[in-house]
Amino acid sequence: MAKEKSKAKLLKEKLFLERKNSTLILSENELKKSNKYNDKYKGFLDFSKTEREAVIYAVRAAKESGFEEFVPNTEYKPGAKVFHVNRNKSVILAVIGAEPIDNGVNLIAAHIDSPRLDLKQNPLYEKDELAYFKTHYYGGIKKYQWTAIPLALHGVIVKNDGTAVSVTIGEDENDPVFVVTDLLPHLAQEQYKRPANELIKGEELNILIGSHPFKDDEISEKVKLNILNILFEKYDIVESDFLSAELEAVPAFKAKDIGFDKSMVGSYGQDDRVCSFAALQAILKTENPKRTAVTILTDKEETGSDGNTGLKSAYLKYFIADLAEALGSNGRTVLSNSRCLSADVNAGFDPTFPDVVEKNNAAYLNKGIVLTKFTGSRGKAGTSDASAEFVADIRSLFDKNKIIWQTAELGRVDLGGGGTVAAYIANLNVDVIDVGVGVLSMHSPFEITAKNDNYMMFKAFDVFFNK
Ligand code: MN
Ligand code: MN
Repeated sequence: MAKEKSKAKLLKEKLFLERKNSTLILSENELKKSNKYNDKYKGFLDFSKTEREAVIYAVRAAKESGFEEFVPNTEYKPGAKVFHVNRNKSVILAVIGAEPIDNGVNLIAAHIDSPRLDLKQNPLYEKDELAYFKTHYYGGIKKYQWTAIPLALHGVIVKNDGTAVSVTIGEDENDPVFVVTDLLPHLAQEQYKRPANELIKGEELNILIGSHPFKDDEISEKVKLNILNILFEKYDIVESDFLSAELEAVPAFKAKDIGFDKSMVGSYGQDDRVCSFAALQAILKTENPKRTAVTILTDKEETGSDGNTGLKSAYLKYFIADLAEALGSNGRTVLSNSRCLSADVNAGFDPTFPDVVEKNNAAYLNKGIVLTKFTGSRGKAGTSDASAEFVADIRSLFDKNKIIWQTAELGRVDLGGGGTVAAYIANLNVDVIDVGVGVLSMHSPFEITAKNDNYMMFKAFDVFFNK
């Protein structure tokens, strides 16, 4: 005879937050879909290590799914699919809904830039017969993590005559790679006395790129000359062309499964490609939504969202205004009635470092997507703080559609903190909440996510656009 549940147990089930099935165990069928999704995601990670490459990937996929370049002042019918690229570094995709656009749009915003080492504008030098690139790191990194790992070089060089040369070297099996050197432990006694954030200093992030001299006895800097000669032959560039280049050194390794059970993904740039990819896949499969669906993949989040390709710029506002006008409305009305999921990663709980979070408000791997009502640091500085009404709206949408989710803050109060693009979109009078995926080793060259969380992120976005 089955034992009856005690009154206390029944009451606990009714009143406590503890969620049933809170650990994400998928059915066999769903697990298959999740694995397939994550395989495709790994392909995206390998192809899109910079914002420019992510835009190329997104536009190609959009065109394959019937999206056309948005043209202002054009008549669009419900179901129409459009995209708009901003300076090759950010992209907006939209599917026109059946409801009047006055009702607002459903917007998902994620970023496609990631921490990395940018080359300085005058990067090339020779020292003691070795050739190097000087770098200036982009975004928040633990500098010591970027030494002694293979680096690839991605980016674009725009020559004086305006021709652009795109560069990707270090990704092909037969390509050379590059590396920032570090000191051997035998001679690191003095280095060890530095504080950890200066273990490697910014000016020590120098990338080794060559060691052979040009065969000639007459001139100095022969190693540098030899490198420039190789670059001239390969890319038809001279040293001054670096002045108008954007070259980014990123980890050269490929996305991999992690663990004997292959339950996780390890890769560079999962902040925030894990959300970008999900937001892209969700809009690509959206057909005839009720409300107009919009995905924006933006640049410059890691440096504070300034600049014309970051979300502090007006490009989103302008696009919405153009879209609104094409549909007989105006940008102000549309934005004021819009709702947004600001899609970015959160710090995954790491059992090795449990003290940096408060465990009741932390994100755990395999417990679904993360809802974050507010970000910011200290007294919530810099947050947009989603309203209780909007949080209720979103949580009931997710619950109704079997989206597994958890709530979390980025770490313990007073310990640090961080922001996302949420505040800049909220400042346009849009309802915004942060959602995302828990990540281990965030901002390192090799970040870790759980496959089932990644897949759940996609499902959540699909629900947001289509339910
Ligand atoms: Mn991020
Ligand atoms: Mn980040």
